[in-house]
Amino acid sequence: MTAACRRVTASAPAKTNLVLHVGSPSPDGYHPLETLFVAVDLRETVTVTLDPALARRDAGITVTVEPAPGSEYARMVAEGSARLADVPLDAGNLAVRAALAVCEAFGAPVPGLRVHLRKAVPVAGGMGGGSADAAAALVAVNDLLAGHLGAAPLPAERLARLGAALGADVPFMLLGGAAIGRGTGTELTAVPGPSGLHFVFVPQDQGLSTPAVYRQWDAEHTVANAASGTGSAPDPVPAEALEALAVGDPERLAARVRNDLQAPAIRLLPELEGLLNHGVDLGALAGWVSGSGPTLCFLAASGTAARNLAGQFAHERRHALAVAGPVPGARVEARG
Ligand code: ATP
Repeated sequence: MTAACRRVTASAPAKTNLVLHVGSPSPDGYHPLETLFVAVDLRETVTVTLDPALARRDAGITVTVEPAPGSEYARMVAEGSARLADVPLDAGNLAVRAALAVCEAFGAPVPGLRVHLRKAVPVAGGMGGGSADAAAALVAVNDLLAGHLGAAPLPAERLARLGAALGADVPFMLLGGAAIGRGTGTELTAVPGPSGLHFVFVPQDQGLSTPAVYRQWDAEHTVANAASGTGSAPDPVPAEALEALAVGDPERLAARVRNDLQAPAIRLLPELEGLLNHGVDLGALAGWVSGSGPTLCFLAASGTAARNLAGQFAHERRHALAVAGPVPGARVEARG
């Protein structure tokens, strides 16, 4: 049982997909995936405060957001290349939905909660920032309510099920590390991956909507599938990628990176292709579209190489973030 406290802060990582294989959609429109997630040390921070006096509007939960002080995202917001206004401040915010889901799971009325997000992950970039907010909120509210109600916290599997109902990436943000995701990405198998891989994220000024990228994938595959009369299952994550990850070998891993959503993302934003080639010319071992994009992710040979690459992009007046992984999933950072 957790000791009662008024405020809990939790964090959760961003992710990239080293491998993202997509299959034909099922009748309900969901695409089956085989993906290799890795969590990186760019973390969202969510503070949840009990506020019994809170007026019961918005189901008793208010949400505020700020760019994480000193983060690249804060610089993007300050110069107008990212808009904080893209984060919903109502019941559509994934952190609010996560908080409500935990209250419901405890069978408790919402006690009045203030949710504050410190965002370091650019919005709608394919790095799963909203999912990380949801994962951090699940962990924070679970801890807070267990103490408040004098009850046992919900077990990890229960939080993962609540997370899966909020978004396909949320269970991975809870788990962290490296994992194969199947189904919509929520059926996870953790895989070995020592920390010490180095990446550079290059966010773009405009976001790409995940449904739009899948629609583009559908448009490109409908003809082929109609011709063959069948849909296709996603290819499995190759054993060579898992072996390279397990021994932390960036050169071998670079040869195995693949994202089936990259072609449709480039079709929607053609300038991504030149930028991917440019990153490799600057010394990256590999470059790919992160998730559904449009953020680009580059694999570097070392931490120094990642910092140098980020520096070269910055010199060209692009935003670039050197990150490392795998790192742990959502966790409590502070209680007060
Ligand atoms: P996904 O691939 O899951 O769409 P993403 O990394 O591309 O993830 P997010 O930053 O998670 O993109 O945001 C996607 C959309 O989710 C946003 O455009 C926004 O409308 C909505 N959203 C809801 N809650 C949040 C949140 N806490 N932070 C950011 N966006 C949120």
